[in-house]
Amino acid sequence: MAGSDDLGMIPLWAVILAVVAFVGIEYLVHVVLPKPRAGLFPMRLMMGYSSGTLVASYFLLVGYVSRDVKRRSMSAPLWMLIVTLMPGGIGAVVYFLLRQPMLTRCPHCATEIASSYHFCPQCQFQMAPVCGRCFRGVEITDVYCKQCGHDLAEDQVPARLRVFRG
Ligand SMILES: [Zn+2]
Ligand SMILES: [Zn+2]
Repeated sequence: MAGSDDLGMIPLWAVILAVVAFVGIEYLVHVVLPKPRAGLFPMRLMMGYSSGTLVASYFLLVGYVSRDVKRRSMSAPLWMLIVTLMPGGIGAVVYFLLRQPMLTRCPHCATEIASSYHFCPQCQFQMAPVCGRCFRGVEITDVYCKQCGHDLAEDQVPARLRVFRG
């Protein structure tokens, strides 16, 4: 899922490559290739624009993946190769289907854990609100557990996970 920090995930070299590629393709289409007959000019304008955009977004995508793999501790060289070499953006689709959950650090013991965990497996630090009876995940605003109906007000939830409750 795209987060709000995703734009900062595209490194500068990818942005520069994308701009250079776009300008290069416009140059190729409008200057290097032989001039079309007058009536065909709008078509060529469209063609140059769409292929330029396609190649530019390809570079931005490769740049995004190069940073995204690192926060999921996946193999960067392997995935860069897949996303770069598979034609028509198929590599990127495969990447988004198979990528590992984002990693975060336990604030208590600094172990690297998936951000979907409810508890730290090393020190039992509670990362997310859970039901005190069935231990499934609950929303911070829930009053009763949606799985087993347990009254969540009875639980000894750490104060930092209780901020929104009245
Ligand atoms: Zn921990
Ligand atoms: Zn429950």
